[in-house]
Amino acid sequence: MAIDEKLEPVMAEIIRRNAGESEFHQAAREVLECLGVVISRHPHYAEDALLERISEPERQIIFRVPWVDDSGQVQMNRGFRVQFNSALGPFKGGLRFHPSVNLGIVKFLGFEQIFKNALSGMPIGGGKGGSDFNPRGRSEGEIMRFCQSFMTELYRHLGEYTDVPAGDIGVGQREIGYMFGQYKRITNRYESGVLTGKGLRWGGSRVRREATGYGTVYFLQRMLATRNQDIEGKKVVVSGSGNVAIYAMEKIRNLGGTVVACSDSNGYVYDKAGIDLDLVKEIKERRRGRISSYPELRGKGAHHVEGGTVWEVPCDIALPCATQNELSGKDARTLLKNGVIAVAEGANMPCTPDAVHAFQTAEILFAPGKASNAGGVATSALEMQQNASRDSWTFEQTEERLATIMTAIHDRCAGTAEEYGMPGNYVAGANIAGFIRVAEAMKALGV
Ligand code: GLU
Repeated sequence: MAIDEKLEPVMAEIIRRNAGESEFHQAAREVLECLGVVISRHPHYAEDALLERISEPERQIIFRVPWVDDSGQVQMNRGFRVQFNSALGPFKGGLRFHPSVNLGIVKFLGFEQIFKNALSGMPIGGGKGGSDFNPRGRSEGEIMRFCQSFMTELYRHLGEYTDVPAGDIGVGQREIGYMFGQYKRITNRYESGVLTGKGLRWGGSRVRREATGYGTVYFLQRMLATRNQDIEGKKVVVSGSGNVAIYAMEKIRNLGGTVVACSDSNGYVYDKAGIDLDLVKEIKERRRGRISSYPELRGKGAHHVEGGTVWEVPCDIALPCATQNELSGKDARTLLKNGVIAVAEGANMPCTPDAVHAFQTAEILFAPGKASNAGGVATSALEMQQNASRDSWTFEQTEERLATIMTAIHDRCAGTAEEYGMPGNYVAGANIAGFIRVAEAMKALGV
């Protein structure tokens, strides 16, 4: 889709103000492309510089993170928190620790988060943060000292009513623990609602760990049902082998599908009999190792393809659960040639615009991450609810809430796409529905 000419100046201004931030431009363009029809029907959404305001973060924080490594050397990283939009609630979104992190990446993630969080129907605004710190190969002590230094600066910008970070790539329960500990120590407050993704014994929620992966598969299930299909008996390929991938694979298996391949940044592993999830959990969650060790530990029947793209493995369903722009137009065409019928994004913006275009032209089912991976942040909002009421729900109760939320997100996207004359276009449905919710709140709150 092209940007409506009325919205071109908005896009030009985003590029001018955020020079060189290509991922942010990509995310903004995708949303603006979908809004032409909204503005034509309801011109008031383009008034009062609403589109310009929505694409400018409320606040951007960049800070120095010095820390001491195990050999006594002082190391220095850069920390970020982009507080993008708080019209619907406190800023909410993860922290990513990865060497590729820069302001443009954090901004794209924060921008996506606004609409994702709005779509979830929960009272949370959008934000994102992180650091270019590389946790790979770092000791427990180094990770702890880094997290403490990071929080020593960030704590002043957070609060359960202000900004509530969580995990993302490179940040899991361990890191959230170190950061929560430092926040508690500095503020002298046991403010559970200031971070989500906490451990169960210290304010965490059941199902938070599983939520992004499970939620993606719930969305997929609902989407397949619109074409009288289901997951049972389907061959599935998942990229990544982190938290999102692992629990997407688990839910696929529980619903009768077979995951034949998954990956990490070094390559992918193929296992015709179905990926052994306990083994992936052992390698990734306990050993913090590489997926290349899978075939040897598994015994016969599996092999690792060093440097290969997992999308060359034929499948019915593809779930990109690794990172942004990991599935190119070429990969999309390979998947289509091999007969893929549905793609649901578990990661944030893993498919390039060219790939999304190829899927949409072929009229297969395609779910954008801001809708299909919203289960993670939605369950974070459930964690905040439990913290606020000093309560702790059962697994069943929490999973049921997640399933209901994912169904509602699906139906909101499908219904909105239909209403705006683009039935089956989940990208348009997600962007329009998310935008309207935020825009309404921003208008009500004044300039
Ligand atoms: N990082 C996750 C996301 O991309 C979760 C954010 C959260 O729970 O706040 O949505």
